[in-house]
Amino acid sequence: MYNFHTHSLLSDGSLLPSELAVRYLAAGYKVIAITDHVDYSNIDLVIPAILKFTHNWPKDSLIKVLPGVELTHLPLGQFVSMVKYCRKKGIKIIIGHGETTAEPVFQGTNRAALEADIDILAHPGHISDDDVQLAKRRGIFLEITSRDGHNATNSFVAKKALKFGAKLILNHDSHEPEDIISIAQLKKVGLKAGLNAAQVANTYKEIAKFLKKL
Ligand SMILES: [Zn+2]
Ligand SMILES: [Zn+2]
Repeated sequence: MYNFHTHSLLSDGSLLPSELAVRYLAAGYKVIAITDHVDYSNIDLVIPAILKFTHNWPKDSLIKVLPGVELTHLPLGQFVSMVKYCRKKGIKIIIGHGETTAEPVFQGTNRAALEADIDILAHPGHISDDDVQLAKRRGIFLEITSRDGHNATNSFVAKKALKFGAKLILNHDSHEPEDIISIAQLKKVGLKAGLNAAQVANTYKEIAKFLKKL
């Protein structure tokens, strides 16, 4: 029971990381990643803050909190160096903010993010077949999201991922307390995107495998 896409007030979310963790715990989640938006302007503010938080979060807590980032609206040439920098600092979950149809995003962002060592391509919009195949080859998760606007292409993403065998992940992209939906509601987002129950279950199996390798 996980969600690897959350925002705290370290970027444009409204909650402190502690409250975020407590609210996800109350909603029944076992693992979350805090993945605040970063670019070169704030990377050295956000990374030390997230790491200090996760290093001090109790090891015996019923919810595990992973340090993450979401590389957002980067010029395409910055993805590789930014990802290397984040990994070197100890960031575990790296999201690329994909080509959602809900916001202007540089064309080519899906490809540039997939060519870097990211873990998840968030809301990739009308992702090309070549990029889905690249995600598959590189073992990068394509995101199905509960977030309004970004969710407009969930069915498209699910269909392409199933066609080419790329891994899918169900995420919230939460910013506010009301974005923290229940596990059952999150599974429904997967079903609404066109996955069947076994395919939803499979996304959880893939995450379990991924977590073991962290
Ligand atoms: Zn945001
Ligand atoms: Zn996000």
